[in-house]
Amino acid sequence: MADNQFDLIVIGSGPGGYVGAIRAAQLGLKVAVIEKDKTYGGTCLNVGCIPSKALLESSEHYVAAQHDFAAHGIKVPKVELDLGTMIARKDKVVKQNTEGITFLFKKNKITGINGFGKILGAGKVEVKGEDGNTQVLATKSILIASGSVPVELPFLKYDEKRIVSNTGALILPQVPKTMIVVGGGVIGLELGSVWQRLGAEVTVIEYTNRLGGPTDQDCMNVLKRNLEKEGMKFLLSTKVTGSNVVGDGVEVTYESLTDGKATTAKAEVVLVATGRKPFTTGLGLEETGIQKDPQGRVIVDNHYQTSVPGIYAIGDVIAGPMLAHKAEEEGVAVAEMLAGGAGHVNYNTVPGVIYTHPEVATVGITEEQAKEKGIEINVGKFPFLANGRARAKGFTEGFVKIIADKKTDKLLGAHMVGPGVSELIHEVIVCMEFGGSSEDLARSFHAHPTLSEVVREAALAVEKRARQM
Ligand code: FAD
Repeated sequence: MADNQFDLIVIGSGPGGYVGAIRAAQLGLKVAVIEKDKTYGGTCLNVGCIPSKALLESSEHYVAAQHDFAAHGIKVPKVELDLGTMIARKDKVVKQNTEGITFLFKKNKITGINGFGKILGAGKVEVKGEDGNTQVLATKSILIASGSVPVELPFLKYDEKRIVSNTGALILPQVPKTMIVVGGGVIGLELGSVWQRLGAEVTVIEYTNRLGGPTDQDCMNVLKRNLEKEGMKFLLSTKVTGSNVVGDGVEVTYESLTDGKATTAKAEVVLVATGRKPFTTGLGLEETGIQKDPQGRVIVDNHYQTSVPGIYAIGDVIAGPMLAHKAEEEGVAVAEMLAGGAGHVNYNTVPGVIYTHPEVATVGITEEQAKEKGIEINVGKFPFLANGRARAKGFTEGFVKIIADKKTDKLLGAHMVGPGVSELIHEVIVCMEFGGSSEDLARSFHAHPTLSEVVREAALAVEKRARQM
């Protein structure tokens, strides 16, 4: 095969693109990945999952050193924040991860190309390099993995200094005294938590009457209560209507949806986290005849093929939850289908995690959704308060809730809030993948003392036989 001819060209090196590319290369395909940004890894590695978790980790240590160490008998003189070092550590973590992808591309003989990819038609992609030079590559298949970008509100234009998206919120040069977070979803709560822990007075303004969108509201109530205890303020059912950048901050006007009352408040920094939209600018979709839905998402069939044969799309740029692991599994499925395999993604077991303190982790249907769909369920719930390991750790807030089908006992969902639940959720997912029941979970060994015993007790509680309460 000629140097500029491939089996698969992937546009975008985020978790969907790079994981799909690696799987395709493992299966013997000749693969190229085109990336317009300087580093590989997309939103997730550069300005999303990884840097946000690095700052959440550091800021959690900062709070623990100030408030929790004393109870363990550890005396710390005066805890001081060195924000520069914290941000530099985050950057180092990002660099290790993005360089890891360069290594993986080499290892799997994937051609990484720096430049902007444009589809000229089935089997043909143009790449424009930073120097303006273009080259045209030939390929059997094209995979669009161009991801998403933050939604911008017309009255809150990003300057990434005073009015920031997730990108600006990861590099603030100093802790703002006050921060308004517009949007009470995952990104708003996580990044709001970082700056609140570091000393900012954070107010979250949310349009709906709930936090976390469709997330189990029992879980969200525990999270909200804890964040309020730590000083975060929430204005629910509130619409932001305007803003005005003044010398040392931003005046934000908002209106209560309950009584229509308008208020103006000032904050040093406003973080807008009202959602993300698919990114397809300049990709050549219109010229090629690739169809999008009204929300701008590329339309695909069950095999992730777009309206043009031989061109596929995955990840944030198509419908479904905008999550890295969802993008990854879709990338793997496309690679396997192209290599003659089946390729399959089980959308019933996509987990969702909010990495706050406490964490929230969910999979499958909620009680609310079961009611809407008329599915009869049994619910088992167990608190961390009754768990020895949680007590030893010194954090006993939260619970695990297991949802099982009333007739068959098949696991339909799990909703957790508390210590370490971002890890605990996975035993339920594996059990669900095997079509398991709450009894399967309840009869499985769980080492003592571990936080995972709460999952088991919640499974036992489905049949009303939890032992430790
Ligand atoms: P992306 O990661 O967006 O990658 C797309 C890539 O395509 C980009 O690198 C872009 O430069 C490139 N590209 C686009 N167009 C072109 C073109 N024409 N030519 C060349 N290159 C192009 N998800 C989780 O699962 N867990 C988390 O904890 C989590 N935390 C997050 C925190 C934040 C602050 C944010 C913003 C997001 C978070 N997400 C998280 C979401 C996650 O980052 C996305 O779901 C994921 O990155 C989507 O992967 P993707 O491959 O579809 O696209």
